[in-house]
Amino acid sequence: MSRIAYVNGQYVPHSQGSVHIEDRGYQFADGVYEVFAVHGGKLIGEQGHLDRLTHSLGELQIKWPMGKRSLMVVVRQVVQRNHVKNGLVYLQITRGVARRDHPFPAECQSALVITARKMPPLDKAALSKGVGVITIPDIRWQRKDIKSIALLPNCLGKQQARSVGAYEAWMYNEKDEITEGTSANAWIVTKSGELVTRQVGQSILNGITRLAVIEAARASGLAFSERAFSRQEAAEAKEAFVTSSTSHVKAVTRIDGKPVGNGHVGELTANLLDLYVDFIESKGGPVVTNRWN
Ligand code: PMP
Repeated sequence: MSRIAYVNGQYVPHSQGSVHIEDRGYQFADGVYEVFAVHGGKLIGEQGHLDRLTHSLGELQIKWPMGKRSLMVVVRQVVQRNHVKNGLVYLQITRGVARRDHPFPAECQSALVITARKMPPLDKAALSKGVGVITIPDIRWQRKDIKSIALLPNCLGKQQARSVGAYEAWMYNEKDEITEGTSANAWIVTKSGELVTRQVGQSILNGITRLAVIEAARASGLAFSERAFSRQEAAEAKEAFVTSSTSHVKAVTRIDGKPVGNGHVGELTANLLDLYVDFIESKGGPVVTNRWN
């Protein structure tokens, strides 16, 4: 069955979806995006994604292409028309089409593209297999809280990881602190057993999955810290994992080729995956979604 995309007001066959050559997204990466997970036919973290999109659009002064409620109607339509029970929705808004010139155009209609893709259902056993990450310098701009479509440093980092057989690259800043992965948030359980992920600010994208894991941990009385952690702490960690809408809670068992802890998936990581799945299945996503930087 052919895929359907929503492109600027129309549902079109995916292969025929196209945008203007002077779309500012194409020329300047002048746009933002969101990726929603679909789990068991339901959109996960809807409110969180909308709130984060509000933040990203606001920071870049890009107009909403339509109201939030209408937008979610279209998102659901795209999910339905593509028969996605498990998978993801990709939503991109750019400033729109204008003669190529750096300043914002006076009049511009924001461009909206929404696609959906089927993926295998969340598989706890696969997520618990454990993957490797490498560490690389964070060469991105200073507003990582904005979910910008300018992802070249992220692509370079992910490619570097994949070229050495690693799943993800964790980026570190000038203070040797791990900020996050190229498309996921980074978590460790330190050698003393502290569950840690970096605090929110302009140096990371606050993940909807990160927020869900935090709420799930809090609800079950698990202690955690939101603070900076160093490459050294990561290298000495007992456990590690990444979170994202597509990776869920994915165990990391090697950092820069060296085993994390005993090299097996950690107990707390496995526990958090269970808690996360229960949480999204019962609550649908995080409730507190108003801290972006
Ligand atoms: N950080 C970065 C840089 C990302 O690209 C993503 C995925 N969009 C995340 C974190 C995780 O965010 P989420 O849990 O909302 O998918």
